[in-house]
Amino acid sequence: MNALYLPAIGSIAQRTLVRGDFGMTVRAAAELMHAQGVNSLLIEEDAQHFIFFIDELLAFMHEGGTVHALLRDAPVRKIACLEESIKVNHALDLLEQSGQRYLGVLNQQARLIGLISSNDILHSIDPAVLLERRVVGDIFARKMPVMFTADWILEDVLHHLRKWDDSIVVVEAGRAIGLISPQQVFGVMTQEKSAQHPLSHYMVSPVVTTPLSSSLQQALVQMRENKMHHVIVVDEQQRVVGLVTQSELIGYAYGSWINIMQNQAAELQALVASLEQRARGFEQLTLMDDLTGLGNRRLFHQQLQAEIERMRRYRAGPFSLVIFDVDHFKKVNDVHGHLAGDAALRALGGELNSFTRSSDTACRWGGEEFAVLLSSTTLEAAGVFATRFKILIENLEFPQGLKITISAGVGEYGLGEAENPFFERVDQALYRAKTKERNRVELDEVK
Ligand code: GH3
Ligand code: MG
Ligand code: MG
Repeated sequence: MNALYLPAIGSIAQRTLVRGDFGMTVRAAAELMHAQGVNSLLIEEDAQHFIFFIDELLAFMHEGGTVHALLRDAPVRKIACLEESIKVNHALDLLEQSGQRYLGVLNQQARLIGLISSNDILHSIDPAVLLERRVVGDIFARKMPVMFTADWILEDVLHHLRKWDDSIVVVEAGRAIGLISPQQVFGVMTQEKSAQHPLSHYMVSPVVTTPLSSSLQQALVQMRENKMHHVIVVDEQQRVVGLVTQSELIGYAYGSWINIMQNQAAELQALVASLEQRARGFEQLTLMDDLTGLGNRRLFHQQLQAEIERMRRYRAGPFSLVIFDVDHFKKVNDVHGHLAGDAALRALGGELNSFTRSSDTACRWGGEEFAVLLSSTTLEAAGVFATRFKILIENLEFPQGLKITISAGVGEYGLGEAENPFFERVDQALYRAKTKERNRVELDEVK
């Protein structure tokens, strides 16, 4: 079972925040981002947090905005924020639901202290566990990147871009020879440079590509190192065969992660079940009462069944049952305390043990109630046994000078009688002894 380490988001957030304000121009914002090497800018206003992304600013300009526009008039997103102690799994849920790239991380004073992306989270939950064993080829969806040959003019290519965060892959005979990032396109547009040159003029070479055999973890590391949201996947001949985006990787890893959690839950359940079964096994082995060292209710039940079976099969001699209960034991506890009560029960158990024959079964039925099975014993003989024991107890002095008495019900088993009704009959006899005057033995004459 893999132990999953789930850190709090505060411990993995990106802390290098670049802050701006709504009064800045798009150009000033771009220059600031460029100088700091980031592609987002944060603004805090009225305890709310907003974020500008480089590609969204590009889209804004493409749709007629200018570099002189104020950020106030540019498209802005409010970012969802979570407190820094929240665990990464919850943050991942929120990211998935909100469809946002980043979440804000707040300290206890509700100040924004960092940003966190799905990628950060996936790195934190040990991609080695999740992602090492799978290769890009396994999850590869044959989505193609934006590809053009080097002779295309940038201006023309821009009209074909679907999304502004796509990089432009420059290809020759199917192989990637150059790459133009959104940041570069942004540079061209904001610095009012000419977009009339062929792509070869702008592209960066060589291109980092990812073979189909590369592990998902390697692909994630590559994205992070190159600040990309995708990797360009190539076959053995270095031909571009597609694109794997960060969100595909995340989707995969998230799915695996859920599997791991579910497997863990299943394994835990199996473990609990086996422990329970073992515990039941131990219980079965334990037929003894802890306090008195007599048999417990389970042993009593087993012996009673065995006696009944003997009667049924071999028509063996009669057997009888004595159930007794300490009189007013609640008061004993109240007056002398529970420990003294326990000591009295222990001593009573010892007396009963020495009073019975080895062929009899003396058990603590529960609380201050005891049951004795007397083999080869008639009702009359069992009555004598119970009365003698009652007299013994009333004359004994228990620890701390305590005096107790008992009341007993006695019955002889009738052939063919079921266990419960038999027990019930004897218990009723005990009840009669209690209601009469206590310190008394009642025989159940009906069998
Ligand atoms: P009576 O049987 O005469 O009607 O009165 P009682 O006070 O004995 O009645 P009841 O059966 O209602 O109460 C039994 C009391 O025995 C309740 C509990 O305080 C005490 N008792 C049960 N088990 C133990 C035990 O293991 N140790 C101690 N110290 N007290 C116990
Ligand atoms: Mg009692
Ligand atoms: Mg009782």
